[in-house]
Amino acid sequence: MDPRRFVLLDRDGTIIVEKHHLSDPRDVELLTGAAAGLRALAELGLGLVVVTNQSVIGRGILSIGGLGAVHDRMIAQLGAHGVRLDGIYFCPHRPDDGCPCRKPGTALVKQAAEDLGFEAAESFVIGDADSDVGLGHALGATTVLVRTGHGAEALARGCRADHVVADLDEAASLIADLVRKQP
Ligand SMILES: [Mg+2]
Ligand SMILES: [Zn+2]
Repeated sequence: MDPRRFVLLDRDGTIIVEKHHLSDPRDVELLTGAAAGLRALAELGLGLVVVTNQSVIGRGILSIGGLGAVHDRMIAQLGAHGVRLDGIYFCPHRPDDGCPCRKPGTALVKQAAEDLGFEAAESFVIGDADSDVGLGHALGATTVLVRTGHGAEALARGCRADHVVADLDEAASLIADLVRKQP
């Protein structure tokens, strides 16, 4: 059992700049505040896992290997800032496949929790979409909506997260406060 609490992070619009159906590793671009925020979260002793819907696979736009190349690029960019992820879990299906792993489905997190040994309900879920907030609610976790990516639109449409912040850097400050209050 990993004694750490975990942060479950969306990828597109949360860690990297949202680009429709991103498939070229050269298009991977960290959002402002992302590396600093992730480093601060790790320094709090939290585990970091990316949970991402990648229907580009199911749509035939990108292969599993191609997705791996995109992730290698993101891992390298984060690594240059001293950030190491504990895992990346992705749903390869299309929205109409009805799979249990596409967010807000919880199957990816259940798998990650089993692999890494953390308590999903104790985690923090950070993302820019209703599907991220919905995932967090389904897990009984603490939800944080970032205004990057589609976050501002989601908020305007009435997305209800436990907390709303500008970006990952601000999310890290918020979570630092929460962890100190509820260790
Ligand atoms: Mg997103
Ligand atoms: Zn799926």
